[in-house]
Amino acid sequence: MCKDFAEGGEVTLPVGWPHAGIVVPQSDSSLLLYWATNVIEQSTTQTMRRFEETGAYLTGHFRLTSGLHSPEYLQCAKVLQFPAIAAEFGDLLAAALKSLAGEVNVVVAPAMGGLIIGHEVARALGVRLIFTERDADGKMVLRRGFCFEDGERAVLIEDVITTGGSSVEVIALVHQLGAKVLAAGSIIDRSGGKADLGVPRIALATLTPVTYQPESCPLCAQGLPVVKPGSRPGK
Ligand SMILES: [Zn+2]
Repeated sequence: MCKDFAEGGEVTLPVGWPHAGIVVPQSDSSLLLYWATNVIEQSTTQTMRRFEETGAYLTGHFRLTSGLHSPEYLQCAKVLQFPAIAAEFGDLLAAALKSLAGEVNVVVAPAMGGLIIGHEVARALGVRLIFTERDADGKMVLRRGFCFEDGERAVLIEDVITTGGSSVEVIALVHQLGAKVLAAGSIIDRSGGKADLGVPRIALATLTPVTYQPESCPLCAQGLPVVKPGSRPGK
């Protein structure tokens, strides 16, 4: 796994696109946290331009799922409504993941967020896409007759990684079912590179969003109405 990193080499990324942010688990002492800040900023800029072009980058006053308030919000579904952009992101992630993971047999993505980008990465890699869902108890499961063969080599795809909590759940599920997740990728990393999934991962844009506690939010202090964006019901 990840031979290039173990040898201190560089991962090959697609030509014509600034290098994306790559994070390897800090828990593995043979691997160093790879963090080329200037390079990540370029990739982030180019990805963010796509979000701006499609109105998927919103500014205002938002209440995030975490309960924190923020002056900005990224709506991945809105940028992914354009198949050409979804394909572009998918090609980039696929090329980077090939370098990180070597041979890949299957892409795994959690529904809903991971579906479109997971499909595009699977198409670019020429492998199938399996998606996970939550059951009535909120547990991450495989349904619809999906299964893995023993020893299958998987990559995990998400639209956004924030804390990495649900990604870690998906990885545990895949391992339980006999396959192995070798690397993970997302369009956006909202953890500023901090989320540790226990496998090497890549993001096209790495961000550290501005957030406020509701009680000390300057936008609340200005009396601006707060909006709950996104897909989950407001809290
Ligand atoms: Zn506020």
